[in-house]
Formats: sequence, structure tokens, C-alpha cells
Amino acid sequence: MARRLAQLNDLPVTVLAGVGPKHAAALAEAFGVETVLDLLTHYPRNWLDRSNQARIADLVVGEEAMVVVSVQRIAVRRTRGPRPKALVTADVADGSGHLRVTFFNQAWRERQLPPGTNAVLWGKVEVFQGRRQMTNPVVDLIGDRTGRIIPIYPQSEKHRLSTWDQARWMEEVLERAGTFAEPVPAEVLGRLELTDRTSAFRGIHVPESMGEKEVARRRLVFDELLRIQLALVLRKRALERVAKGIEHEVGDAPVGSGGTGGLVARFWERLPFALTGAQRRVLGEITADLAAPHPMHRLLQGDVGSGKTVVAVSALLVAVQGGHQGALMAPTEVLAEQHFSGVRDLLADLSVPDSGASLFGERPVRVELLTNRTTAAERTRLAAGLQGGDVDIVIGTHALIQEGVRFRSLGAVVIDEQHRFGVEQRAALRDKSGTEATPDVLVMTATPIPRTAAMTVYGDLDVSVLDELPPGRTPVETHWVATPEEEDEVWEAVREEVAAGRQAYVVCPLIEESEKLEARSAQQTFEALTAPGTGQLDGLSVALLHGRMPAPEKEEVMGRFRSGALQVLVATTVIEVGVDVPNATVMVVLDADRFGIAQLHQLRGRVGRGADRSRCFLVGEGATPDAEERLKALVRTTDGFDLAEVDLDLRGEGTIMGERQKGRNDLKLASLRRDRQWVERARAEAFALVDADPDLTGHPLLRDEIELFLGEDDAAFLLKG
Ligand code: ADP
Ligand code: MG
Repeated sequence: MARRLAQLNDLPVTVLAGVGPKHAAALAEAFGVETVLDLLTHYPRNWLDRSNQARIADLVVGEEAMVVVSVQRIAVRRTRGPRPKALVTADVADGSGHLRVTFFNQAWRERQLPPGTNAVLWGKVEVFQGRRQMTNPVVDLIGDRTGRIIPIYPQSEKHRLSTWDQARWMEEVLERAGTFAEPVPAEVLGRLELTDRTSAFRGIHVPESMGEKEVARRRLVFDELLRIQLALVLRKRALERVAKGIEHEVGDAPVGSGGTGGLVARFWERLPFALTGAQRRVLGEITADLAAPHPMHRLLQGDVGSGKTVVAVSALLVAVQGGHQGALMAPTEVLAEQHFSGVRDLLADLSVPDSGASLFGERPVRVELLTNRTTAAERTRLAAGLQGGDVDIVIGTHALIQEGVRFRSLGAVVIDEQHRFGVEQRAALRDKSGTEATPDVLVMTATPIPRTAAMTVYGDLDVSVLDELPPGRTPVETHWVATPEEEDEVWEAVREEVAAGRQAYVVCPLIEESEKLEARSAQQTFEALTAPGTGQLDGLSVALLHGRMPAPEKEEVMGRFRSGALQVLVATTVIEVGVDVPNATVMVVLDADRFGIAQLHQLRGRVGRGADRSRCFLVGEGATPDAEERLKALVRTTDGFDLAEVDLDLRGEGTIMGERQKGRNDLKLASLRRDRQWVERARAEAFALVDADPDLTGHPLLRDEIELFLGEDDAAFLLKG
């Protein structure tokens, strides 16, 4: 009988002859490997092709090479001097010659490589004191394994898990498992030229050639991606099936041509600019969703400054012109307040037919703000307005859907910068919406992620991309300031811009652990910068803004900065998103190496919003190689999508997936960068499979695996929904 993966998941690793309780505990602790399935999908991190192996005698100085050696002698000593280091030296040999190997600050190598050990070394050959040597080479222990391709498993010295132990267990698993059941239809495998699963597991763990390993990898990558895509597509279709939406009146102008009917058209006419091509295209996609009978669930990706607000407001107005209401949710109070004043300005003098008092009359579009700061009296008034339908658009924080707010007929919701908007929130919205229908939802994010990553992380949403900035922007000039001497130039630049009537932001060091500590450090930065006589910003009009300040005070400071009364705002990352003051032309980020790429990009996006040249100074030493890469990337490009690629490279898929995916992380081999085209193929196959067979009744093995890898709760929702 062919094995199903679920069966292997029921067996603890101790069923293997070579694995006793000690090894089992070590595997669990080091790698989270508990079952035979875990072990089978614990893949080599590297494969050594011994046909690439060099002989010591043939090594060329200055070039990198791989040698397979046996250790003859090894010793550790401490270097002298003020900062002593552990220095390990080893003499190694193969049949052809000898080599000296040195390791700095790796005292543990002495225990790892006792005389007699066989190891593979990979490194650059150099000459030191007349002898050939390698310094800090990459070391793989291979025991006495033979064969052309040697899989190298992640090793743990602490847990005494060697690669050859693992390879031996893997061989036992493969032998005892025999043939694996095939969940993917033969037609699909044939069309995509993918090997069968049994060959794939063999080929990844015990390949005869690097080519065979590649063929195996491709198949296993496809399986990982297909499982994720199936789950996402099932979720997408389930939501479409279950939820009844509103067929909004979008007007009779053809979708995408620029008109969606009365109110929206009038809104666009009043804008002081023409929509960009990308804004038109995306609005076409959104209005098509709004007109459709199932609720919209769309993600709008757009770089900082790409003009998402106009798109969002247009979507809300489509709902309003059909007699429904719109809501805009922001992640913070500062942002909600800012959106409120921005949207109110955009909609000034715009009127809607008044169905109430004055029949056939008109009244202004009514926009209101609801946050935790809204007073009780105000709240009561607002609640009545929302329930009665006189409030057309309400803007607020998450409180909008959490509190006892009821709408007369909520038609469209825009969620700004908020990724965690799932099934439960959708249900909450439907309960408050005042009708049987689920409102249309548009989620906006200014943190673009690469297309295939979006497909994987947001694959249950439709995605629109604003990939064009409005004309006339000058890209922000970015400088990385790594030394204290250069810092003077930064403050010089701030004073210069302020003297020319512009404004500046100074962002204080990020302290992830505690908002309290962060506030304190911001306070200190503020005091130092403004200290009479010594402060670099002494004499300017400067204020502090951080998350722990009482809300009225925050609003007062933001108001003064917006009006131009304040010249410099010293702030924590509370200003990260959305803050829009076009007269601000300098952004200084202190300890910039502590911030992530997306965060720095957001912060930088606070300047360069007007026509004037803007500058961004990233102050901080490249404390780690990654930090250095991040800062360099920011200097090199202002394109959010480029930066997203760099971020994905540096942080890997895990972090991106972790933000949203529940259940076990199934991306062990697949890379959202390297395997881009497989992401797309897997998605296409997932749609084809689900649309032909919505519950996958005809594919019990696939159903099984989705359950296995995604957790039963999720799977139950998807498959029995
Ligand atoms: P985002 O939210 O995507 O970062 P905003 O919606 O805040 O961007 O828009 C940034 C700025 O660009 C705003 O001042 C807005 O008025 C302006 N803007 C938006 N669309 C256009 C356009 N098509 N042409 C010119 N300026 C625009
Ligand atoms: Mg915005």
C-alpha cells in the first residue's frame, strides 16, 4: 500500500531503529522534528558533489576550493594583546598533501575536529609564513560516507546531531516507507514535467547526481506551494460563496474609462489634479468588484505617496452615491484624525441627494470621526447619525467595528495599513452593517511586497497595485551617515531648510521592547537636541511627539506642525504612516540601523511630498552586515517594490509568512524569490482544481494534506464551509 503523509505523521521518530529516546529529544529540541513526516521533510541544507572536490596538491593560492581531508593535529591558544582571541590551528591532509587551517574565535572547533575526523572544507587558499592555509573555512563533517553526492543536514553540536546520523535515519525512512501515494493528478504532473513523489523524496535525500536532486527539489517545491495555494483559493472561494454582497450602482460609464457615475465623477472633477493611469486602472478593478454580487475583498498595494487616499475615497463614494455608507479604518488615532481632516477637505462642498427632510433637495456629504477620544455625548450623536443614515462616511480606529456601532447600511469599508483583517473581522462587519449583506472591503498597504509574495501571503484576496507615482515628484535624496563627524552636517542641513521656511522630522531610536522606554529615550533625545547653548537644534521651534503622550497633547503638537508653527518635530515612529505635511523636507532617522527596510521606507515617505527637493539622513553605523545592506538599499533606491525584494532577500520567506499564515510553516524548500514561476503555476493549478471541484471531493489525498499542513480548524472551515 502506498504511504500517505498523514500516516507518517502518526509515527514518532522512535519507530526508527537508529533513533532512541535521547536522539528523539535532541531532534525535537534542535529542529522541532517529532514525527517520521517531520524527519522526511527535514531536508539537507546543502549537497556536496564530490566530483567538484580538489586535491590539496592541486590547490591554487587565491582561489576558493573544496577539499576532503582528515584532521591530523589540532590545538587552541589565546592570542596576546589587549583583546585576546581564541586561535585554533589544525593540520589536515588528504592523500596528496598537507594544509594548515586556522579559526579565529571558534574555540569549539577543537572539540568538533578531533584528530582522525573526516571533514569537507570550503574556503580560499592563502599563503601564510610560507605555508598554504585556509582561514575560517566552511566546515562540513561527513564521517566516512561515500558516494558522489553527500547530503549535508543541519547539524547541532549542542544536541550531538551529526549529518551522517540524520542521513542514516533518512535512508531507513525511505526504505521502510516504500512507495508514496500520489496526491497530484497525473495530468498535472505530466504537463508541468514533474517527477513522482516517491522519486522526489529519494532524489532530495539520496541523489545520484546534482541533476536528480534538482528534479526532486522542483517537485517538492511545487507540493509546498500547491498546498498553500489550495488553502488560499479554497478560502477565497468559500468567502465568495457564503457571503452575500451589495451590487453597488457604479454608474453607466464603462468601468475603467474614468467615470463611475454622479457623485464620484463630481469628486474627480473637483480634484486639483488628474488621476494617474494607475489610479484609473485600479479604480476600474475596484468598481468592477463593487458592482459584482459578491463582496469585494481586495488588497491595494501602493508605494508611499502613490495616491491611495483618492482611490479609497472614490470607493467609499460609490457606496454613498447608492445610498449606503462608507467607513475608513486607520491603525492609530493620529492617523485617523489626519485622514479625517484630509478627507473632509477633499469632500468639502460635495453634496448628495437628501432623502430626508427636503425631498429632492441636496445636502453636503457628511463625514465624521470616531476614535477613543470621541466624547460620550458626541458618540451618542454619532451613533444616531450612523443608525439613521445621515452620516455618510465615518473615519476612525479599529474601535469602529469593535464597539456598539451600528450602521443603517454599511456598503464599503477601507482599512488602512492593517494586515490582520480576517474572517472574524469580516463577520463583525456584517453584523454591524445594518443589512444582510457583507460590505465590500478594501485593505490598503503602503508596504509593498513582491508579487509572488503577495500571492502567497494575501492569496485569498484580489490584489491591485498602484505602480505609478503622481507626476512632478522629486525623489528623496538619501544619505547614510555612519560617523559622528558627519552628523554635524545633518544638523546643518536641518537648520538650512528651516531657515528657508521648511520643516523637519527627527525620528528617535526604536526600542521594540517597550513603548515606555522608547518614550523616555525620545524625551532624552529631545532634551539633548534643544539644550540651551549646546543642543544642535537650540533656538528653533521644536516639539516632541511620542505614543505615551495624552491624546489631546498629541493632536495639539500635530496641529502646530501641520500649520507650520513648529519647525522641527522630534518623534518616535508614531509618525511612521500617513502623516502628510508637504512643507516638511528633511527626515533624520537616528539609530537607523535598528529599523527594518519597510519602516525606513515609510519614514522617508513623510518627506518628498511637495515639489521641493527633500533629503533623508539615516544616522547609524552598519552594526551588522544585514543592517548595512538595508541602509545601502535605502540610499540606492526609492522604489518600494525594489526595496521589498531586498527585504525578502535579507529576511527570507519565514518572516513574511509569519505575519499572516497560521499552522505549520510549510515553506521548507520553496523560495518566493527563486521559485517565482512555481508560485504562479501552483496558483493557476489551485484555481483549476478548486473551480472544477469546490470541496476537492475527487481529490481526497489533497484534502488530507491541506488538513495535515494547515491545521484542522482552518481546513474544516475551508472544506466544509
Ligand atoms: P499614499 O496614501 O498612497 O501614500 P496619498 O494618497 O497620501 O498617498 O497621496 C500623496 C499626495 O499625492 C497627496 O498630497 C495627494 O493629494 C497627491 N496626489 C494623489 N493623487 C495625485 C495625482 N493623480 N496627481 C497629483 N497628486 C496626487
Ligand atoms: Mg496613506
